[in-house]
Amino acid sequence: MVDTATPMVAMRGVQKWFGELHVLRDIDFEVAPGEVVVVIGPSGSGKSTLCRTINRLETIDEGTIEVDGKKLPAEGKQLAELRADVGMVFQSFNLFAHKTVLENVTLGPIKVRGVKKADAEKRAHELLERVGVEAQAGKLPAQLSGGQQQRVAIARALAMDPKVMLFDEPTSALDPEMIKEVLDTMIDLAKGGMTMIVVTHEMGFARTAADRVVFMSDGRIVEENTPEEFFTNPQSDRAKDFLGKIL
Ligand code: ADP
Ligand code: MG
Repeated sequence: MVDTATPMVAMRGVQKWFGELHVLRDIDFEVAPGEVVVVIGPSGSGKSTLCRTINRLETIDEGTIEVDGKKLPAEGKQLAELRADVGMVFQSFNLFAHKTVLENVTLGPIKVRGVKKADAEKRAHELLERVGVEAQAGKLPAQLSGGQQQRVAIARALAMDPKVMLFDEPTSALDPEMIKEVLDTMIDLAKGGMTMIVVTHEMGFARTAADRVVFMSDGRIVEENTPEEFFTNPQSDRAKDFLGKIL
């Protein structure tokens, strides 16, 4: 269900440079509550940077970014709280290597949200069950497959009760046989009403779960459309060229 009230994420007139490189150009991008947006585009087009600005892993030079109607502050406790509203899952899992699966999932809620340990553990077990790795709760990340580790990373992000989940190429580092289990977990999440921004070239996921596909090239949003329209009838030469290479 897409709700059209306050956007969950609103980027307006966003510009970002890395030195001379104009990496985000005139970005106007809104995501409605419950909407699932897939971001695709060539390597280096700014997809990761776009995601990283939404939870302030990167600053912006011009424009504004709001999450659920609140402007992202530059720093401080407020920033930590707002950042906790934005869950992020990376290509490289980024689990804490020396903590168990259960500890990976409870750490954030205990430290950032002030949740009691017993409550955090109860919730973590539920989330691990939901993503299908409950049996691994006492293990270290290295004892898990890549697909299992990525599902733990998803559970860890969900444990913070985020308002929006960002996924930056979550299956790119996985062996082919593990891609499906992670995508299925993401599809479940999408069906459950989570607001999601997903950088991926997995067209099956886009067709199944996305409300909208956003195509980036050279730091700009060049085109956006429903997955059906975008894949069968891309408008811009750059999108046609890109799809010609990956499909
Ligand atoms: P994508 O995720 O679409 O591949 P990125 O957002 O990672 O693209 O990168 C966009 C451009 O910004 C690329 O040219 C990349 O080399 C450059 N870039 C990314 N991060 C940095 C950084 N920390 N410092 C300088 N340049 C960067
Ligand atoms: Mg990237």
